[in-house]
Amino acid sequence: QAKEEGRDVFRFFAADMDRRAREAMALEGELRAALARGQFVVHYQPQVNLRTGRIVGAEALLRWHRPGGTLTRPGDFLALAEETGLIGPINEWVLRTACAEAAAWQREGLRPLRVSVNLSAVQFRKHDVRRLVVSALEASGLDPVLLDLELTEGILLENDETVAQVLRDLRRLGVRFSIDDFGTGYSSLNYIKNFPVDRLKIDQSFIRNLRTDPSDTAIVRAIINLGHSLGLGVIAEGVETVEQVTQLIAEGCDEIQGHYYSHPVGTQELQALVRRMNGVSAAPPRDRQAGD
Ligand code: C2E
Ligand code: MG
Ligand code: MG
Ligand code: MG
Repeated sequence: QAKEEGRDVFRFFAADMDRRAREAMALEGELRAALARGQFVVHYQPQVNLRTGRIVGAEALLRWHRPGGTLTRPGDFLALAEETGLIGPINEWVLRTACAEAAAWQREGLRPLRVSVNLSAVQFRKHDVRRLVVSALEASGLDPVLLDLELTEGILLENDETVAQVLRDLRRLGVRFSIDDFGTGYSSLNYIKNFPVDRLKIDQSFIRNLRTDPSDTAIVRAIINLGHSLGLGVIAEGVETVEQVTQLIAEGCDEIQGHYYSHPVGTQELQALVRRMNGVSAAPPRDRQAGD
Protein backbone atom coordinates (compact mmCIF):
# COMPACT_ATOMS: atom_id res chain seq x y z
CA GLN A 1 0.00 0.00 0.00
CA ALA A 2 2.63 2.53 1.13
CA LYS A 3 4.86 1.38 -1.68
CA GLU A 4 2.12 1.96 -4.23
CA GLU A 5 1.56 5.47 -2.93
CA GLY A 6 5.27 6.20 -3.01
CA ARG A 7 5.41 5.15 -6.61
CA ASP A 8 2.51 7.43 -7.47
CA VAL A 9 4.16 10.34 -5.72
CA PHE A 10 7.37 9.63 -7.59
CA ARG A 11 5.53 9.45 -10.92
CA PHE A 12 3.84 12.74 -10.09
CA PHE A 13 7.17 14.45 -9.35
CA ALA A 14 8.83 12.96 -12.39
CA ALA A 15 6.02 14.20 -14.61
CA ASP A 16 6.21 17.64 -13.01
CA MET A 17 9.98 17.83 -13.47
CA ASP A 18 9.63 16.72 -17.03
CA ARG A 19 7.04 19.42 -17.69
CA ARG A 20 9.19 22.09 -16.11
CA ALA A 21 12.27 20.99 -18.01
CA ARG A 22 10.31 21.19 -21.25
CA GLU A 23 8.97 24.64 -20.36
CA ALA A 24 12.48 25.84 -19.54
CA MET A 25 13.76 24.50 -22.85
CA ALA A 26 10.97 26.18 -24.77
CA LEU A 27 11.67 29.49 -22.99
CA GLU A 28 15.37 29.17 -23.73
CA GLY A 29 14.56 28.74 -27.41
CA GLU A 30 12.30 31.79 -27.31
CA LEU A 31 15.04 33.87 -25.64
CA ARG A 32 17.56 32.89 -28.31
CA ALA A 33 15.06 33.79 -31.01
CA ALA A 34 14.27 37.07 -29.25
CA LEU A 35 17.92 38.06 -29.31
CA ALA A 36 18.32 37.06 -32.96
CA ARG A 37 15.12 38.82 -34.06
CA GLY A 38 15.63 42.04 -32.12
CA GLN A 39 12.71 41.60 -29.71
CA PHE A 40 14.63 43.03 -26.77
CA VAL A 41 14.49 46.73 -25.93
CA VAL A 42 16.11 48.81 -23.25
CA HIS A 43 13.97 51.05 -21.10
CA TYR A 44 15.45 53.81 -18.97
CA GLN A 45 14.40 54.94 -15.53
CA PRO A 46 15.46 58.47 -14.53
CA GLN A 47 17.67 59.06 -11.51
CA VAL A 48 17.01 62.43 -9.94
CA ASN A 49 19.31 64.59 -7.84
CA LEU A 50 17.42 65.62 -4.69
CA ARG A 51 19.19 68.95 -4.32
CA THR A 52 18.71 70.22 -7.87
CA GLY A 53 15.60 68.26 -8.86
CA ARG A 54 17.31 67.42 -12.14
CA ILE A 55 17.59 64.11 -13.92
CA VAL A 56 21.28 63.22 -13.66
CA GLY A 57 21.21 59.70 -15.01
CA ALA A 58 19.07 56.74 -16.02
CA GLU A 59 19.17 53.02 -15.33
CA ALA A 60 18.99 50.72 -18.35
CA LEU A 61 16.42 47.99 -17.75
CA LEU A 62 15.91 45.11 -20.15
CA ARG A 63 12.46 44.54 -21.66
CA TRP A 64 11.25 41.79 -23.98
CA HIS A 65 8.65 42.63 -26.62
CA ARG A 66 7.05 39.22 -27.03
CA PRO A 67 5.41 38.37 -30.34
CA GLY A 68 1.89 38.59 -28.84
CA GLY A 69 2.53 42.25 -28.01
CA THR A 70 3.25 41.90 -24.30
CA LEU A 71 6.21 43.61 -22.72
CA THR A 72 7.92 41.23 -20.30
CA ARG A 73 10.11 42.33 -17.41
CA PRO A 74 13.37 40.50 -16.74
CA GLY A 75 12.17 38.95 -13.48
CA ASP A 76 10.31 36.38 -15.53
CA PHE A 77 13.23 35.20 -17.63
CA LEU A 78 16.49 36.43 -16.14
CA ALA A 79 17.02 33.42 -13.84
CA LEU A 80 16.79 31.05 -16.79
CA ALA A 81 19.09 33.25 -18.86
CA GLU A 82 21.60 33.05 -16.00
CA GLU A 83 21.34 29.25 -15.79
CA THR A 84 21.74 28.68 -19.51
CA GLY A 85 24.52 31.21 -20.00
CA LEU A 86 22.32 33.24 -22.37
CA ILE A 87 22.73 36.13 -19.94
CA GLY A 88 26.17 36.68 -21.51
CA PRO A 89 24.99 37.65 -25.00
CA ILE A 90 21.84 39.33 -23.64
CA ASN A 91 23.78 41.56 -21.26
CA GLU A 92 26.33 42.32 -23.94
CA TRP A 93 23.48 43.51 -26.12
CA VAL A 94 22.05 45.66 -23.28
CA LEU A 95 25.45 47.23 -22.58
CA ARG A 96 26.12 48.05 -26.24
CA THR A 97 22.60 49.40 -26.73
CA ALA A 98 22.65 51.53 -23.57
CA CYS A 99 26.06 53.04 -24.44
CA ALA A 100 24.96 53.77 -28.01
CA GLU A 101 21.65 55.32 -26.93
CA ALA A 102 23.25 57.40 -24.16
CA ALA A 103 25.79 58.73 -26.67
CA ALA A 104 22.90 59.58 -29.01
CA TRP A 105 21.11 61.59 -26.27
CA GLN A 106 24.01 64.00 -26.30
CA ARG A 107 24.27 64.14 -30.08
CA GLU A 108 20.60 65.08 -30.02
CA GLY A 109 21.27 67.96 -27.68
CA LEU A 110 20.91 66.73 -24.11
CA ARG A 111 23.45 67.63 -21.49
CA PRO A 112 25.67 64.67 -20.55
CA LEU A 113 23.59 62.09 -18.72
CA ARG A 114 24.98 59.08 -16.87
CA VAL A 115 23.68 55.66 -17.86
CA SER A 116 23.63 52.73 -15.42
CA VAL A 117 23.85 49.15 -16.67
CA ASN A 118 23.30 46.02 -14.56
CA LEU A 119 25.97 43.33 -14.72
CA SER A 120 25.57 39.81 -13.42
CA ALA A 121 27.98 37.54 -11.61
CA VAL A 122 27.88 34.96 -14.40
CA GLN A 123 29.38 37.53 -16.75
CA PHE A 124 32.38 38.01 -14.52
CA ARG A 125 32.86 34.26 -14.29
CA LYS A 126 32.46 33.44 -17.96
CA HIS A 127 33.20 36.53 -19.99
CA ASP A 128 35.92 39.10 -20.42
CA VAL A 129 34.05 42.03 -18.87
CA ARG A 130 36.93 44.44 -19.34
CA ARG A 131 37.17 43.83 -23.07
CA LEU A 132 33.40 43.94 -23.44
CA VAL A 133 33.05 47.31 -21.65
CA VAL A 134 35.97 48.86 -23.50
CA SER A 135 34.53 47.66 -26.80
CA ALA A 136 31.04 49.04 -26.01
CA LEU A 137 32.55 52.41 -25.06
CA GLU A 138 34.68 52.57 -28.19
CA ALA A 139 31.87 51.55 -30.52
CA SER A 140 29.47 54.12 -29.06
CA GLY A 141 31.88 56.97 -28.41
CA LEU A 142 30.30 57.43 -24.97
CA ASP A 143 32.48 59.24 -22.45
CA PRO A 144 33.51 56.51 -19.94
CA VAL A 145 32.71 58.76 -16.97
CA LEU A 146 29.06 58.60 -18.06
CA LEU A 147 28.94 54.82 -17.73
CA ASP A 148 27.93 53.44 -14.34
CA LEU A 149 27.99 49.68 -13.84
CA GLU A 150 25.60 48.29 -11.22
CA LEU A 151 27.13 45.36 -9.40
CA THR A 152 25.50 43.12 -6.83
CA GLU A 153 27.16 42.27 -3.57
CA GLY A 154 27.42 38.71 -4.89
CA ILE A 155 29.84 39.76 -7.65
CA LEU A 156 32.06 41.56 -5.16
CA LEU A 157 31.99 38.73 -2.65
CA GLU A 158 33.43 36.29 -5.10
CA ASN A 159 36.33 38.45 -4.06
CA ASP A 160 38.79 37.10 -6.46
CA GLU A 161 41.62 39.33 -7.42
CA THR A 162 40.70 39.19 -11.11
CA VAL A 163 37.34 40.90 -10.49
CA ALA A 164 39.09 43.60 -8.46
CA GLN A 165 41.64 44.06 -11.24
CA VAL A 166 38.97 44.36 -13.94
CA LEU A 167 37.15 46.99 -11.90
CA ARG A 168 40.32 48.94 -11.19
CA ASP A 169 41.28 48.93 -14.88
CA LEU A 170 37.85 50.18 -15.89
CA ARG A 171 37.85 52.73 -13.09
CA ARG A 172 41.09 54.11 -14.49
CA LEU A 173 39.27 54.76 -17.78
CA GLY A 174 36.66 56.71 -15.81
CA VAL A 175 33.88 54.07 -15.52
CA ARG A 176 31.83 54.28 -12.28
CA PHE A 177 30.50 51.48 -10.09
CA SER A 178 27.40 51.25 -7.93
CA ILE A 179 26.40 48.51 -5.54
CA ASP A 180 22.84 47.51 -6.40
CA ASP A 181 20.26 46.31 -3.85
CA PHE A 182 22.60 47.42 -1.10
CA GLY A 183 21.78 45.92 2.27
CA THR A 184 20.12 42.75 1.01
CA GLY A 185 23.26 40.75 0.33
CA TYR A 186 25.82 39.88 2.92
CA SER A 187 26.89 41.88 5.88
CA SER A 188 30.58 41.91 5.01
CA LEU A 189 31.59 45.44 4.15
CA ASN A 190 35.11 44.44 3.27
CA TYR A 191 34.53 44.72 -0.44
CA ILE A 192 33.68 48.42 -0.21
CA LYS A 193 37.26 48.91 0.87
CA ASN A 194 38.82 46.65 -1.72
CA PHE A 195 36.83 47.60 -4.80
CA PRO A 196 36.61 50.99 -6.51
CA VAL A 197 32.96 51.65 -5.59
CA ASP A 198 31.39 55.08 -6.21
CA ARG A 199 27.83 54.72 -5.08
CA LEU A 200 25.44 52.71 -2.92
CA LYS A 201 21.91 51.96 -4.13
CA ILE A 202 19.62 51.44 -1.17
CA ASP A 203 17.40 48.47 -1.93
CA GLN A 204 13.72 49.20 -2.45
CA SER A 205 12.71 46.82 0.33
CA PHE A 206 14.01 49.40 2.84
CA ILE A 207 12.20 52.25 1.09
CA ARG A 208 8.76 50.63 0.89
CA ASN A 209 7.85 51.19 4.55
CA LEU A 210 10.25 54.00 5.21
CA ARG A 211 7.71 56.21 6.92
CA THR A 212 6.03 53.55 9.00
CA ASP A 213 8.71 51.06 10.00
CA PRO A 214 11.27 52.53 12.43
CA SER A 215 13.83 49.83 11.56
CA ASP A 216 13.68 50.77 7.89
CA THR A 217 14.20 54.41 8.79
CA ALA A 218 17.20 53.45 10.91
CA ILE A 219 18.67 51.24 8.17
CA VAL A 220 18.25 53.90 5.50
CA ARG A 221 19.84 56.51 7.74
CA ALA A 222 22.75 54.15 8.51
CA ILE A 223 23.36 53.39 4.83
CA ILE A 224 23.36 57.09 3.92
CA ASN A 225 25.79 57.87 6.74
CA LEU A 226 28.01 54.92 5.84
CA GLY A 227 28.11 55.96 2.19
CA HIS A 228 28.85 59.57 2.94
CA SER A 229 31.53 58.71 5.51
CA LEU A 230 33.27 56.70 2.81
CA GLY A 231 32.89 59.47 0.27
CA LEU A 232 30.30 57.55 -1.77
CA GLY A 233 27.10 58.81 -3.35
CA VAL A 234 23.83 57.27 -2.16
CA ILE A 235 20.73 56.68 -4.28
CA ALA A 236 17.41 55.23 -3.09
CA GLU A 237 15.50 52.97 -5.48
CA GLY A 238 11.82 52.06 -5.58
CA VAL A 239 10.72 55.51 -4.38
CA GLU A 240 6.98 55.75 -4.92
CA THR A 241 5.51 58.45 -2.66
CA VAL A 242 6.05 62.08 -1.79
CA GLU A 243 6.37 61.07 1.88
CA GLN A 244 9.32 58.85 1.00
CA VAL A 245 10.91 61.69 -0.97
CA THR A 246 10.49 64.11 1.95
CA GLN A 247 12.04 61.63 4.34
CA LEU A 248 14.96 60.91 2.01
CA ILE A 249 15.66 64.63 1.64
CA ALA A 250 15.62 64.97 5.43
CA GLU A 251 18.09 62.07 5.73
CA GLY A 252 20.45 63.68 3.22
CA CYS A 253 20.10 61.09 0.46
CA ASP A 254 21.69 62.27 -2.82
CA GLU A 255 19.45 60.79 -5.51
CA ILE A 256 16.21 58.90 -6.02
CA GLN A 257 14.85 56.53 -8.62
CA GLY A 258 11.34 55.15 -8.69
CA HIS A 259 7.75 55.32 -9.86
CA TYR A 260 7.25 58.56 -7.90
CA TYR A 261 9.27 60.31 -10.56
CA SER A 262 8.88 58.03 -13.57
CA HIS A 263 8.47 54.44 -14.64
CA PRO A 264 11.18 53.08 -16.93
CA VAL A 265 10.51 54.50 -20.43
CA GLY A 266 11.83 54.08 -23.97
CA THR A 267 14.80 56.09 -25.21
CA GLN A 268 12.69 58.70 -27.06
CA GLU A 269 10.41 59.21 -24.09
CA LEU A 270 13.39 59.58 -21.78
CA GLN A 271 14.80 62.33 -23.96
CA ALA A 272 11.46 64.14 -23.96
CA LEU A 273 11.24 63.81 -20.19
CA VAL A 274 14.73 65.22 -19.69
CA ARG A 275 13.98 68.15 -22.02
CA ARG A 276 10.79 68.89 -20.10
CA MET A 277 12.28 68.51 -16.61
CA ASN A 278 15.82 69.80 -17.04
CA GLY A 279 15.09 72.56 -19.50
CA VAL A 280 16.72 72.96 -22.87
CA SER A 281 20.34 72.07 -23.27
CA ALA A 282 23.02 74.72 -23.22
CA ALA A 283 24.38 73.04 -26.31
CA PRO A 284 21.52 72.44 -28.76
CA PRO A 285 22.33 70.26 -31.78
CA ARG A 286 22.52 73.29 -34.11
CA ASP A 287 25.39 74.88 -32.14
CA ARG A 288 27.12 71.54 -31.96
CA GLN A 289 27.06 71.11 -35.71
CA ALA A 290 28.46 74.57 -36.25
CA GLY A 291 31.39 73.63 -34.05
CA ASP A 292 31.95 70.21 -35.58
P1 C2E B 1 17.25 46.40 -10.17
O1 C2E B 1 18.52 46.60 -10.90
O2 C2E B 1 17.29 46.54 -8.70
O3 C2E B 1 16.21 47.37 -10.86
C1 C2E B 1 15.17 48.00 -10.19
C2 C2E B 1 13.84 47.32 -10.43
O4 C2E B 1 12.81 48.01 -9.71
C3 C2E B 1 13.37 47.36 -11.89
O5 C2E B 1 12.65 46.17 -12.11
C4 C2E B 1 12.43 48.56 -11.92
O6 C2E B 1 11.51 48.51 -12.97
C5 C2E B 1 11.76 48.39 -10.58
N1 C2E B 1 11.23 49.66 -10.06
C6 C2E B 1 11.57 50.90 -10.42
N2 C2E B 1 10.91 51.82 -9.71
C7 C2E B 1 10.10 51.15 -8.87
C8 C2E B 1 9.15 51.55 -7.87
O7 C2E B 1 8.92 52.73 -7.60
N3 C2E B 1 8.53 50.56 -7.19
C9 C2E B 1 8.75 49.26 -7.45
N4 C2E B 1 8.10 48.34 -6.75
N5 C2E B 1 9.64 48.83 -8.38
C10 C2E B 1 10.30 49.77 -9.09
P2 C2E B 1 12.83 45.33 -13.44
O8 C2E B 1 13.04 46.23 -14.60
O9 C2E B 1 11.74 44.33 -13.48
O10 C2E B 1 14.20 44.59 -13.19
C11 C2E B 1 14.33 43.65 -12.16
C12 C2E B 1 15.77 43.27 -11.97
O11 C2E B 1 16.26 42.60 -13.11
C13 C2E B 1 16.69 44.47 -11.80
O12 C2E B 1 16.68 44.92 -10.48
C14 C2E B 1 18.02 43.88 -12.20
O13 C2E B 1 18.60 43.19 -11.12
C15 C2E B 1 17.62 42.91 -13.26
N6 C2E B 1 17.88 43.48 -14.59
C16 C2E B 1 17.14 44.34 -15.33
N7 C2E B 1 17.72 44.59 -16.52
C17 C2E B 1 18.88 43.88 -16.52
C18 C2E B 1 19.95 43.72 -17.45
O14 C2E B 1 19.98 44.31 -18.54
N8 C2E B 1 20.97 42.89 -17.09
C19 C2E B 1 20.98 42.24 -15.88
N9 C2E B 1 22.01 41.43 -15.57
N10 C2E B 1 20.00 42.37 -14.99
C20 C2E B 1 18.97 43.18 -15.30
MG1 MG C 1 19.95 47.85 -10.95
MG1 MG D 1 18.22 47.33 -7.26
MG1 MG E 1 17.44 43.79 -8.10
